[in-house]
Amino acid sequence: MRAIEAVRAGGPEVLTLVERPAPDPGAGEVVVDVAFAGVNFIDTYRRSGVYPAHFPHVPGSEGAGVVSAVGPGVTDVAVGDRVAWVDGPGSYAEQVVVAADRTVPVPDGVDLATAAALMLQGLTAHYLVDSSHPVGPGEDVLVHAGAGGVGLLLTQLAVARGARVITTVSTEAKAELSREAGATAVVRYDQLDDLTAQLPEAVRAVAPEGVHAVYDGVGRTTFDASLASLRPRGILVLFGGASGQVPPFDLQRLNSGGSLFVTRPTLGDHVATRPELLRRADELFHAVRLGALKVRVGGTYALADAGEAHRALEARETTGKLVLEVGG
Ligand code: NDP
Repeated sequence: MRAIEAVRAGGPEVLTLVERPAPDPGAGEVVVDVAFAGVNFIDTYRRSGVYPAHFPHVPGSEGAGVVSAVGPGVTDVAVGDRVAWVDGPGSYAEQVVVAADRTVPVPDGVDLATAAALMLQGLTAHYLVDSSHPVGPGEDVLVHAGAGGVGLLLTQLAVARGARVITTVSTEAKAELSREAGATAVVRYDQLDDLTAQLPEAVRAVAPEGVHAVYDGVGRTTFDASLASLRPRGILVLFGGASGQVPPFDLQRLNSGGSLFVTRPTLGDHVATRPELLRRADELFHAVRLGALKVRVGGTYALADAGEAHRALEARETTGKLVLEVGG
């Protein structure tokens, strides 16, 4: 089968199309013929060496496709089932092995590109508004990179919970997409001379006391402005570092900021059990089927072009979700 391999840590150019042996399912596992593999920021962290990976490394952890073989002991997943997954290592490939109890059935009415798009980013948006800080009606929240994969979904889910959402974006086209997702106010943070001083002012022009929660996946460049945008007892949910990782900081800043909270959550802890994985996925699929949640696939690439997808993502050129069309 064909797969993408990173032979060593490096830039997008290390991603190479190779032939690998077709996998066999072990006990409790299934083999899925991949229709779409999702591209995520974390794939770039592993490719570049920011996060540890063993090389040669086949990137990707999520996707959607059709089960083509089941291993011993698998009873509730069958050949021909349409499934999606979020923790199937090596998903940039024509076939992937996934533990049967980590597959999510894709319901009728949800296409496989949408299902792939909803796994890592959708489940993340879900736990952020549902668990990291349960967003309530009448709250004000700030979402960075509002036209990104997580950002567009997070905005819609927070609005559905009755919140007023302020977002940041870097282009006018992204601003328009963010407004369409339900943002009340959109700040062009690329146009601010002093982000740390001016972004909190822009936020307070909309929410005078500051926001109840900031969802920050940008990290290094936005962290200080995020803290300064909170109201007393507000929470900064730092969930990523698209601009770089946040350096260590002095806990006393939480005291002087007004009894603030900071959390650094990760998806794995929020879908660790099968019931929690299925609950979150079911709620997302249900919202899609109702038309209440729009999933924007902003870029579809051939498997061989995975490096170009990484380059565009890291260059801030993308909106919504990027997928690799593997088997279609
Ligand atoms: P996005 O589609 O949001 O792409 C990243 C966006 O970040 C860019 O489009 C850009 O938007 C913004 N950005 C700001 N500064 C930079 C920079 N220096 N370089 C690159 N991008 C920058 O990506 P995802 O939706 O896939 O992921 C968003 C964040 O969420 C990432 O940090 C990712 O690691 C994190 N994440 C965390 C998870 C968790 O459980 N903790 C799970 C899933 C994702 P703009 O041009 O508008 O500034």
